[in-house]
Amino acid sequence: MMQQFDVAVLGAGAAGMMCAAVAAQRGRRVVLLDHSGTLAEKIRISGGGRCNFTNRRVGPENFLSANPHFCKSALAGYTPQDFIGLVNSHGIAWHEKHRGQLFCNDSSQSIIDMLRTECDRAGVAWRMPCSVAQVTHEANGAFLLATSQGELRATRLVIATGGLAIPQLGATDFGLKIARQFGLKVVEPRPALVPLTFDGVAWEHFSELAGVALEAGVSTGRGRGRQTFLEDVLFTHRGLSGPGILQISSYWQPGEPIELDLAPGQQITDLLIAAKSGNRQQLGTVLSASWPRRLAEQWLGEQAVLRMADAPDRVLRELGQRIQAWSLVPSGTAGYKKAEVMRGGVDTRGLDQRSLQAKSVPGLHFIGEVVDVTGWLGGYNFQWAWSSAVACGRSL
Ligand SMILES: Cc1cc2nc3c(=O)[nH]c(=O)nc-3n(C[C@H](O)[C@H](O)[C@H](O)COP(=O)(O)OP(=O)(O)OC[C@H]3O[C@@H](n4cnc5c(N)ncnc54)[C@H](O)[C@@H]3O)c2cc1C
Repeated sequence: MMQQFDVAVLGAGAAGMMCAAVAAQRGRRVVLLDHSGTLAEKIRISGGGRCNFTNRRVGPENFLSANPHFCKSALAGYTPQDFIGLVNSHGIAWHEKHRGQLFCNDSSQSIIDMLRTECDRAGVAWRMPCSVAQVTHEANGAFLLATSQGELRATRLVIATGGLAIPQLGATDFGLKIARQFGLKVVEPRPALVPLTFDGVAWEHFSELAGVALEAGVSTGRGRGRQTFLEDVLFTHRGLSGPGILQISSYWQPGEPIELDLAPGQQITDLLIAAKSGNRQQLGTVLSASWPRRLAEQWLGEQAVLRMADAPDRVLRELGQRIQAWSLVPSGTAGYKKAEVMRGGVDTRGLDQRSLQAKSVPGLHFIGEVVDVTGWLGGYNFQWAWSSAVACGRSL
């Protein structure tokens, strides 16, 4: 028998559950479908299992998009403070980490439970696990979905199937396919918030540093397009990771270099030259005072045993330059398997910023990560999921 709904939301992740709850609270008959047997796997694993659910300071500058102004309206309509209010109303304890990042005290599961409760209280119908084989747009404007649990018809269709990151947890390109099916443009998707990899002999030297972490300034791009983050960087066997690298990876263009300042806020050349006079210590010992020892030794090579007093200024200048403006070209990224998000997605120029509705297809909406709005590391991607979902839910 044909099942009839006002709204069908496809994808019961962060954005899908939020949108379904808001629409159902407004009296709409809502069905929420997901092909996975387990609810909201990405929320579960997020923030190291504690879900960095938002950030105290959220602005459009924290997002990447081919259309940077698009996110403003949704973010202003449902703010971090609004989400904190919801979290508090469910009695979920949370704490703030550095840079305004908010995490659950206990576990990400409490955010999943909260969203599920919001949906259930509002009377959302669940179809899970349930896959959708085909979506047809009927002449009357309704959407017909052929699913593994039978056919259903809905006046509005909300695509909340997320991005391509972590395919092993059920990520698919379904949302992008639907966008193309309905003639919407897609900004080329790429892994983002992802470790960078380096090939070749030059890197073999550094791969021995796997496990070493330090704070660094990490930059890419030129002129007004230049982006810099001051965060920790981690050496791995295949390349570089850590928050600073994940952040810059979203801005990095293949073939372009990244630059690292491995002693941010210091003038290493001046410090070393000033420390020379009468100093019998070895260069390696001096550098290890402010750097991880393994890094200092590896970095200096044979120069590590140079006595400070004997080190030519020229050598110290070159060293300072290499430490504070280390330029290197990644060979690639660790790919979707290791990425936290996808950048790119449904082109926002084809969407209405208030309702996230496709301008050319009334009744078809895209929310969350499938849309070409990608947040920084630090709770921004969930805030986009909540804000875009609420903007859409209120419009349905
Ligand atoms: C390891 C990791 C850690 C992260 N940590 C954080 C963090 O701490 N803070 C933060 O802000 N962001 C974090 N993120 C990013 C964040 O999880 C996502 O940006 C966010 O979940 C996107 O929400 P969404 O609802 O758009 O998509 P998702 O939450 O991914 O939900 C999409 C849903 O659609 C379903 N689906 C997919 N394809 C289909 C299909 N064909 N048919 C039916 N259903 C389908 C999926 O099963 C899934 O349930 C993290 C991501 C990863 C991978």
